[in-house]
Amino acid sequence: MKSTHPYIGRFAPSPSGPLHFGSLVCALGSYLDAQSHGGHWLLRMEDLDPPREEPGAATRILNSLETHGLHWHGAVEWQSKRHRLYEETLAQLREQGLLYPCYCSRSQIRQNSGHDNLGCRVKHSGSGPSALRLQCAGDEEVFEDIWRGEQHQPVREDTILKRRDGLYAYQLAVVVDDIAQGVTQVVRGADLLDTTGVQIRLFHILGTTPPVFGHLPLVMGPGGKQKLSKQNHAPAIDDNKAADNLCAALIFLGFHVPETLRQEKPEHILKWATARWQRHQIDKRDRQLH
Ligand code: GLU
Repeated sequence: MKSTHPYIGRFAPSPSGPLHFGSLVCALGSYLDAQSHGGHWLLRMEDLDPPREEPGAATRILNSLETHGLHWHGAVEWQSKRHRLYEETLAQLREQGLLYPCYCSRSQIRQNSGHDNLGCRVKHSGSGPSALRLQCAGDEEVFEDIWRGEQHQPVREDTILKRRDGLYAYQLAVVVDDIAQGVTQVVRGADLLDTTGVQIRLFHILGTTPPVFGHLPLVMGPGGKQKLSKQNHAPAIDDNKAADNLCAALIFLGFHVPETLRQEKPEHILKWATARWQRHQIDKRDRQLH
């Protein structure tokens, strides 16, 4: 599936709820960045964690994107269908001697102020189900974020790649898929900024060059303390108001939107915005929607 296309971006929602305004901003930002660079924009459904999924959410997300004119390139990739790839990567890491089973409970980890104080890396024994950890803790990763500038992120802990409940961890799947899909640019919400260092470490361990990362501002919920999210039940966007939603998301990103644009079809609005997208003009502040 590797492609030689110079810019490959993606939107990778988890189907734990329908698209809300914050996720629309991320989808729109990554779409416009890809389009304005003549790139491909892929859609990956991160359905890794069935207990956290909401029935029907994946279909609703895809419908909302289409209604808003956010058409992706090629077929949707479903993480639930890619377990073999994750297993192959784990086998490769195991062969490199970089994986070890972890039997530690959450309370043990908490009591010891973090996992890597428990000596689990060398112990390798315990009872009951175990998680799989990657030996990756160590120096910081330094990278340049498109909007947030130079980042220094220490990788403090050996990250879990497979959970005790048998589910693949987000960190594993996201990196394996970005490599397999040839993703060159990851534009996503700033809530994921802190996970980037460990992902970059995994890209390196797997012998690949990490993509360029850019983290978009977060839409904060009422009170301004928490981001809008599926977990705090942010309302679904109304697909009957696609043009209004797109204009509001553009304004949030820092565009000056003429009133008349709201009368246009989503495809026209997206074309208008693609022609005007300039990375340096994006409003970087996390804030509430007014
Ligand atoms: N699936 C993740 C989420 O919905 C996003 C993963 C990513 O963009 O790297 O929060």
